[in-house]
Amino acid sequence: MKDIYKVAIIGGGAGGLAAAIRCASRFGGKNVIILEKQNRTGRKLLATGNGRCNISNTDMDMVHYHGDKRIISSVIGRFSVKSIRKFCSEIGLLLREDEAGRIYPYSNQAATVLDCMRTQLSVLGTEEKCDFFTKKIKKTGFGYEISSPENVIKAENIIMASGSKASPALGSDDSGLMLLRENGIKHTPLFPALSPVETKEKYKSLKGIRAKGIAEIVADGYTVKKEKGEIQFSDKALSGICVFQCSRIVNEYLYYGTVLGNKTRKIEIAIDLMPDYSAAGLERYLRSCKKRFSDKPAGMILSGALHKRLSEAIVESQTIYKKNCIELEEKEIQQIACAVKCFTFTPVKSDQFSNAQVCAGGIGSDEINTDTMMLKKLPNIYVCGEILNVDGDCGGYNLHFAIGSGIIASDNIK
Ligand SMILES: Cc1cc2nc3c(=O)[nH]c(=O)nc-3n(C[C@H](O)[C@H](O)[C@H](O)COP(=O)(O)OP(=O)(O)OC[C@H]3O[C@@H](n4cnc5c(N)ncnc54)[C@H](O)[C@@H]3O)c2cc1C
Repeated sequence: MKDIYKVAIIGGGAGGLAAAIRCASRFGGKNVIILEKQNRTGRKLLATGNGRCNISNTDMDMVHYHGDKRIISSVIGRFSVKSIRKFCSEIGLLLREDEAGRIYPYSNQAATVLDCMRTQLSVLGTEEKCDFFTKKIKKTGFGYEISSPENVIKAENIIMASGSKASPALGSDDSGLMLLRENGIKHTPLFPALSPVETKEKYKSLKGIRAKGIAEIVADGYTVKKEKGEIQFSDKALSGICVFQCSRIVNEYLYYGTVLGNKTRKIEIAIDLMPDYSAAGLERYLRSCKKRFSDKPAGMILSGALHKRLSEAIVESQTIYKKNCIELEEKEIQQIACAVKCFTFTPVKSDQFSNAQVCAGGIGSDEINTDTMMLKKLPNIYVCGEILNVDGDCGGYNLHFAIGSGIIASDNIK
């Protein structure tokens, strides 16, 4: 172990590992150390993309990011898809992209990404110090003393890559943010993003059903977000990529009572389960089904169009019970058509952080120099990844940002 390291990186996740590789190649591997509180680095990385690690996306546009626009434009403006391809090529990681532009390791294995990063660090001679839970950072003459309950490490520079609160089962917490807060650094409020949404309406029978449709977030009567794609139902929550993309807005409301910063009284998720049909076209279809399914229960009326259990739940949602299809009145046909186009759910608060893929909120551009990623109040401490007030859509945007910001921070250490 060295007496004083050139750079200590707090957190061995995607951002921290990328930063360590860049620092090690700039300053020599032995001058860099990774301090990780878990018993191994890259645990979350292994869980990404359902074990496949969606590392980036060919459509690298700012619209896919939320939070602090100055930080987003600074990082995405300088760290492009070409940059991440170059970084991966330098560590021997081959990539492939799918038809939607999502970039994965060629092996389709998240473990390959972690193996390539760790092998590179080992070749460069950089030490990973695991089970090192950083509890204190103290300014000294040469730089900083970084303490865990058992050890003290000295370093001239620190890169804070400790992530944030999403998915605590993978080791995430806000201990890094707390440390900085104790040292006078402020951050914007945290809330989960890319999470399932628990709802007041519970349909036990819908558990496990998947349907294609459009999810629309309606806040105080106005549509604030619309996403097309697959919706997954459970007995008490909605998920699937299109719900995940909407969850940021829902969680902001559930945690702080605001939507995009505006005080909001009510929020709902309305799902159009048959976007290819107009309400009038659907009513015509239902009238024909009324005759076709004549003496069958009303809950079956949509069974030629949707999953049988979804058909039953929609009819049930209109409080139509104990009727056969033929007994449905015209008003009820219209109600059912309307419910298919607008199957409405009321989000309720639960522990969304536990199932969230990312955390919204964090350190903003008022606290860092966005050119260098260095904290304005704490010289030679740099920040990267999810600890910052930036979160991306599903599709590789969060890993791209964590790696990009880690590399930019490393490139700016003098
Ligand atoms: C299930 C799941 C799937 C995902 N899939 C994708 C995907 O396919 N594509 C994508 O782009 N994004 C995905 N994400 C999001 C992405 O993984 C994160 O945004 C990204 O890992 C953030 O990187 P980071 O380095 O900032 O933080 P992290 O990866 O969270 O790493 C932070 C590290 O710091 C350590 N640490 C924290 N505090 C301390 C401390 N005080 N002392 C020492 N160590 C500390 C933690 O243990 C952790 O290892 C997914 C997330 C989850 C949970």
